[in-house]
Amino acid sequence: MEEQMLIEEIKKLKEEKNAIILAHNYQIPEIQDIADYVGDSLGLSRKAADTDADIIVFCGVHFMAESAKILSPNKKVLLPVLDAGCPMADMIDAEQLKIFKKDYPNAAVVCYVNSSAKVKAESDICVTSSNALKIIKSLDSEKILFVPDQNLGSYIASKAPEKEIISWEGFCITHHRVRHSEIDTVRKNKGETKILVHPECNPAVVEKADFVGSTSQIIEYISSSDDKEFIIGTEMGILHTLRKNNPGKKFYLLSPALICYNMKKTSLEDVYRALKEEKNEIFVDKEVMDKAYKSLERMLELS
Ligand code: SF4
Repeated sequence: MEEQMLIEEIKKLKEEKNAIILAHNYQIPEIQDIADYVGDSLGLSRKAADTDADIIVFCGVHFMAESAKILSPNKKVLLPVLDAGCPMADMIDAEQLKIFKKDYPNAAVVCYVNSSAKVKAESDICVTSSNALKIIKSLDSEKILFVPDQNLGSYIASKAPEKEIISWEGFCITHHRVRHSEIDTVRKNKGETKILVHPECNPAVVEKADFVGSTSQIIEYISSSDDKEFIIGTEMGILHTLRKNNPGKKFYLLSPALICYNMKKTSLEDVYRALKEEKNEIFVDKEVMDKAYKSLERMLELS
């Protein structure tokens, strides 16, 4: 089916089935354009919790669709491509976390939302890159076990020296690939142009950036800035929203490595098939779901 026809069919199906399409900022432009809401993990979690749709088509990776299911257990949550996963989320499982916790019995366990439902169920609270610092600062415990992203963990540790952050050694294979020498090269060529990076980048990159934030914080920073050019150090999918929202401004990607292949797996055809056949439904075990819900709910309350 040609693209325009697919778009029309998806719109029709959405209405017939009372469905909503949620898409992450890293999805391909065509998917972002048909979505009812495009955002980062925090915004998407809020939307999933608040919607009165019967079906949520989640254009993102597996852990995001799982979170949507946990927050809206009575809705049908569909992931158009079932093997769109997050390699970082897969770097720790519930058994590994249980062993990690045994070594630090008095620490609060904080998991980045980029984790499986089972890992969330073993955690005290969940965070996203937008609210991690605020939430960790607000916790009573001084000692924090943070999983799975060592780079976000080290960024929080640099901003909250009063806390002892013990991080799991996971990382995002996309952001971790950016080298600090790429910042040096860009500085040489682009002079004063601001460099904005995601805290999933490694500390040597984060240290040299002008601004560090989640995708929504980067979007907000740019909207309120008078600058006309920016260097973007997060996954390339965000450029679509930035260019749409800021027609007079120019954006350059910090590194060609900033592409997440899992986020690029979903096509319009996949969304159409998932919605038409109501296939690729996400299920979460009831006991895991109840425990994971508590850590997500605590996050939403505190953020
Ligand atoms: S960009 Fe990184 S953290 Fe996000 S889904 Fe891809 S691999 Fe996972």
